[in-house]
Amino acid sequence: MSITREHACAMDANDPLATLREQFVLPEGVIYLDGNSLGALPRATASRVQSVMADEWGQQLIASWNTAGWIDLPRSVGDRIARLLGVGAGEVVVADSTSVNLFKVLSAALRIAQHDSRRRVIVSERSNFPTDLYIAQSLAQQFDCELRLLDADTLAQGIDSEVAVVMLTHVNYRTGAMHDMGALSRKAHAVGALTVWDLAHSAGAVPLALKEDAADFAIGCGYKYLNGGPGAPAFVWVDPQWVDQFQQPLSGWMGHAAPFAFDPQYAPASGTSRYLCGTPAVIAMAALECGVESVLAAETYGGMAAIRAKSLALTELFAECVSKFAKGYGLRLVSPHEANRRGSQISLTCEEGAYAIVQALIARGVIGDFRAGDGVAMPDILRFGFAPLYTRFVDAWDAATHLHEVLQSGNWREARFAARHAVT
Ligand SMILES: *Cc1c(COP(=O)(O)O)cnc(C)c1O
Repeated sequence: MSITREHACAMDANDPLATLREQFVLPEGVIYLDGNSLGALPRATASRVQSVMADEWGQQLIASWNTAGWIDLPRSVGDRIARLLGVGAGEVVVADSTSVNLFKVLSAALRIAQHDSRRRVIVSERSNFPTDLYIAQSLAQQFDCELRLLDADTLAQGIDSEVAVVMLTHVNYRTGAMHDMGALSRKAHAVGALTVWDLAHSAGAVPLALKEDAADFAIGCGYKYLNGGPGAPAFVWVDPQWVDQFQQPLSGWMGHAAPFAFDPQYAPASGTSRYLCGTPAVIAMAALECGVESVLAAETYGGMAAIRAKSLALTELFAECVSKFAKGYGLRLVSPHEANRRGSQISLTCEEGAYAIVQALIARGVIGDFRAGDGVAMPDILRFGFAPLYTRFVDAWDAATHLHEVLQSGNWREARFAARHAVT
């Protein structure tokens, strides 16, 4: 039985989160399936940023650090994100980028792990996001460690007594496959290792319980499912049992116990504030706050559990529609078949033309993206993110239909769809 467009529309009519779409600016005629790479713009953001500039910066000038609460933004926005991560107030700060925050927490984790032992291995996944691997390579050199890269199915076996830190991305950016955070963290703890989790593709998309799942450190991205805007600041969480024990390496003044004492000697702040480095990007923080609020708005309708339920239903619907015609065009599902083992995206691969097919879809107003393979084990990927706050079931249905038409017509073979852009 094929799913009809009417059926998808009925699902939208019964969707408890449907009204949350109105929070966003979404261009007419566009089906946006790239919220896992850059979240959509909340309507509230432009006026908030305008007010930060015109009223706070423009009129109150430097007084705004106090009067408008600028100095507390890393903590106040962090407290809001904490609600999405299932952790307590005061445990999350917002700062810098995901890459920079990973450097801080991985370094702190290695220092703790090597404190009383000669553990020399960092474990990660071979297909982890490149910046995570690059940061780990740099720290492996500094800490005289080996970076042990494993495939997802051999990770658990590769976590042995030589391991200092297990550093993983919860939801894989290419495949959308989601690790069992609790099982892997407990495995790491059983051999005496610590865990660092990158939540770039999880925060705002899947429910998290970092404490219950035995995570030690976590970082994540502000511009994906948190809708914070391009290059939005990122976040850091540290288990309270570790936070005051070790200093992170980027010992800037905003992480000092008393920044405005101007003491020439560094002394770290207590709590997660020590993971701050320099002056917060206030305008970007204000935009991120609006983005996080757009996710918290779901709390009235069931919160992260409702977001997850809709996300699973969206990816199921899309995968189901695609499966009806996939075989005829050599299209394969790269994401896990079981919905509860994936994040909020569907990744497909095909024998040829993945990049051009994505371009042909974009020309029709269906915005997904392309991630290049390595020509060996990792195939080229067509990626479709389903941000549950603003993606409708009918969008998933229409996108699958467009994909079918693009393949059927073969028009993706036109030369204009082959030209590579800088950002894919
Ligand atoms: C998106 C993403 C990043 C982005 O890092 P930036 O420092 O913001 O460029 C890092 N890690 C993962 C796993 C990501 O998905």
